[in-house]
Amino acid sequence: MVAVTARTIVKRFGATEVLRGVDVHVPDGGFAVLVGPSGCGKSTLLRLLAGLEEVTAGEIRFGERDVTRLAPRDRDIAMVFQSYALYPHLTVRDNLAFGLNLRKTDAATVASRVAEVSAMLGLEHLLDRLPRALSGGQRQRVAMGRAIVRRPQLFLFDEPLSNLDAALRAQVRVEIRKLHDQLGATSVYVTHDQVEAMTLADRIFVLNRGVVEQVGPPREVYEHPRTRFVAGFLGSPA
Ligand code: ADP
Ligand code: MG
Repeated sequence: MVAVTARTIVKRFGATEVLRGVDVHVPDGGFAVLVGPSGCGKSTLLRLLAGLEEVTAGEIRFGERDVTRLAPRDRDIAMVFQSYALYPHLTVRDNLAFGLNLRKTDAATVASRVAEVSAMLGLEHLLDRLPRALSGGQRQRVAMGRAIVRRPQLFLFDEPLSNLDAALRAQVRVEIRKLHDQLGATSVYVTHDQVEAMTLADRIFVLNRGVVEQVGPPREVYEHPRTRFVAGFLGSPA
């Protein structure tokens, strides 16, 4: 497990300041949800945590480690996106093994990790299939499996449910939270969906135009919104 701390993060693209001094702290084992309307900077913040973009100013720490300038592969993270990004020509088994094979893991370890992860996600009977022969929910499960097979300390989710229909969304949402708890991971989860945020999070960060308007346990933020924006966005009681 690892705590995540982002301090006074600023991100500019050219003249546009997308993040304007954002602070995020997620304790060891915490499940944080970044929530806010489209375009407020959620994905950008997540990509900075992943190392896919560089901060303009500010500092990112995982536990004691300053990772601000580290490449993604040195950050020990797993990212799950809304598009599943599975390799279409590889079976489910080989998709799951892919992250490990890249690191020259021995065959016995690969086999046992793949078995462990497919049992966790109920994918055992699908291992020989190609992605095109899977449903949307099954594909998203394979994508999650591929992320967890390396046993990363930190999960980053960017709207992982938005391509699923409503019934599946609820089911996979519960599975994501269960996996997080089982693995003892730390998670940062991005969504524009208030219900997802309220049901998944230990702590929500409400973003608006590149700043965090409010942080706290979901119930508390919902019941005691500090700004009109937060109240309106979460649909808090008047
Ligand atoms: P969200 O995920 O909350 O919808 P994003 O973080 O994707 O928002 O985007 C926030 C803002 O930053 C948007 O106005 C978007 O157009 C802009 N933006 C994101 N990435 C880039 C980029 N690579 N170059 C220029 N502008 C970007
Ligand atoms: Mg986004």
